[in-house]
Amino acid sequence: MPSYKVHIFGYLVMVGILLLLSDKLLNFHLSIETLIFGNIIGILYSILPDMDTPSSKMRKILGRLFLAASIICLLAFVFLRRMELIYIPLMLILFLYLLWFSRHRGLFHTPIIGILLSLPLYLIDLYYVGFAIIGFFSHLVLDNEVFR
Ligand SMILES: [Zn+2]
Repeated sequence: MPSYKVHIFGYLVMVGILLLLSDKLLNFHLSIETLIFGNIIGILYSILPDMDTPSSKMRKILGRLFLAASIICLLAFVFLRRMELIYIPLMLILFLYLLWFSRHRGLFHTPIIGILLSLPLYLIDLYYVGFAIIGFFSHLVLDNEVFR
């Protein structure tokens, strides 16, 4: 299993080649903001499939992120008394719990999950979907999961 650093490097090489080719062959340019935020998203998605591994960097990031979100929701519940502020931490905890039962290189290492997890970014910007899919698929290519 390549480390998260290898996955990030692999993503940067792949997205670099794609951006260079699209620039030279199609004269296609992105704004600097799109490149910066798109690559942050791409880097995160390049290590996202390994959330099915308890010791992975992404699992640690998700654990901390979900803990922080849960604490914020519970604090907000104290003041706002809205039940959805209780449901959000419960769903996040349930998701982390269910991750314990996911098989490494199982469901989260499939192209369909990569597409499903990338599509919500369309609500922000279509290009972010592209960066996310490149990140996710670069991970699958390095894990040799795409052509299985
Ligand atoms: Zn992997």
